[in-house]
Amino acid sequence: QATLDNKEAQLQLSNNNTVTSRTDYIKYIIKNELESRVNLNNHIEQDDCFFVLDLGQLYRQHQKWKRCLPRIKPYYAVKCNSDQKILEYLTLLGVGFDCASGFEIQKALQCGADPSNIIYAHTCKQASYLQFAAENGVRKMTFDSVDELYKTKKLYPNAELLLRILTDDSKAKWGIGLKYGAPMADVDNLLQTAKTLDLNIVGVSFHVGSGCSDAGAYHDTLRNSRIIFDRAKQLGFNCNLLDIGGGFFGVDYPGKPTFEQITSVIREAVDQLFPHDVQVIAEPGRYYATSTLTVCCQVVGRKLLSELNEDNDDSDTGNKTYAYYVNDILHSSFATRLFYSDVIDLRVLMKNGVCTYGNCHNNEQKFSSRVWGHTDEPGDCLSENARLPLLNIGDWIYAENLGAYAITTCHFSGFERPKIIYVDSKAYHH
Ligand code: PLP
Repeated sequence: QATLDNKEAQLQLSNNNTVTSRTDYIKYIIKNELESRVNLNNHIEQDDCFFVLDLGQLYRQHQKWKRCLPRIKPYYAVKCNSDQKILEYLTLLGVGFDCASGFEIQKALQCGADPSNIIYAHTCKQASYLQFAAENGVRKMTFDSVDELYKTKKLYPNAELLLRILTDDSKAKWGIGLKYGAPMADVDNLLQTAKTLDLNIVGVSFHVGSGCSDAGAYHDTLRNSRIIFDRAKQLGFNCNLLDIGGGFFGVDYPGKPTFEQITSVIREAVDQLFPHDVQVIAEPGRYYATSTLTVCCQVVGRKLLSELNEDNDDSDTGNKTYAYYVNDILHSSFATRLFYSDVIDLRVLMKNGVCTYGNCHNNEQKFSSRVWGHTDEPGDCLSENARLPLLNIGDWIYAENLGAYAITTCHFSGFERPKIIYVDSKAYHH
């Protein structure tokens, strides 16, 4: 039996139930939350949507990272999900931080990070943030332009600079090459300018784009990085830091290379091209955060859209299409659909008062369902064509793997950030 290391799980034990899997554990937490709301008697908190944030997933992902990339130290990309407990937990695991602003640097420091474990990974920095980094001893930072070098010379002349280079991000879900990264043709000028200004270039960084399952993109950029290390050495720089950025998915998708497969290519290329006196770091964001978060929301409205849908001859959808209105919104919890066009996998959480978290509902008839978010913004749609059993007002649905690039976004249309229930499932089987 798993070792139980938090209050809720101990409570479960005292009820003489055994919880061994993560699914059972999360189900227990959710059931407990929903049951505890029954007595709230129409108080506003009775039916508000809520999140379960499982810190144990950070632990699992970190173990996998260490297995697959033992030589590469992760600096978690704070922008991906800057929840304080996530940052504190990662600090305890020994993970560093990639910060993109003064606020993120401040947050990482408050969560216990040592300045030497922070990289200011933004190539175009606000002056006051750069000064903040200098005052707090955050030395590592990226650049990709001559103007940034002049700014750095003025405000932080002894910063440790990594030249961020352009990658082929065409295979990533979200390319950022248009915005950041110097082309190889600019490298000589940048190195030369840094030399003239007597700045300290310590290495190379890149980012292959977020959601990249193309190991070739990493491989090709690693080769270019090697070329730059050699050129920098000829100019008298002592480069000893390589930053391979982020881009890794947080869960495996059918038909795409797994994390293990991609990292085996990276591991080999890094070892071949960079001897062990070069320190290698990375900036994974979604890899760590994605699977931490489950969003639970209630059906607050329903409409029958059509009795007869002639375009749809799929027998298990019946001839009906329903629209549901739920009490959460696209622009915060589901923002990954907004930014990355991700398909949200909505499932039934509680039907007619029975918690069915983790069940597939395979035997139930499914209907084509459009699920709208709670604002009057016409784009606030969580799913255009979910396949759901018939739901009633008051039933609950949930979606997993929404921890990346979502809950940090704005409180759209006056909606407050929902309650977050923090749990740690690391003691259970996955
Ligand atoms: N580092 C930088 C500079 C980024 O711009 C990003 C994302 O945009 C990340 C790291 C994190 O990327 P990911 O979440 O794909 O791992």
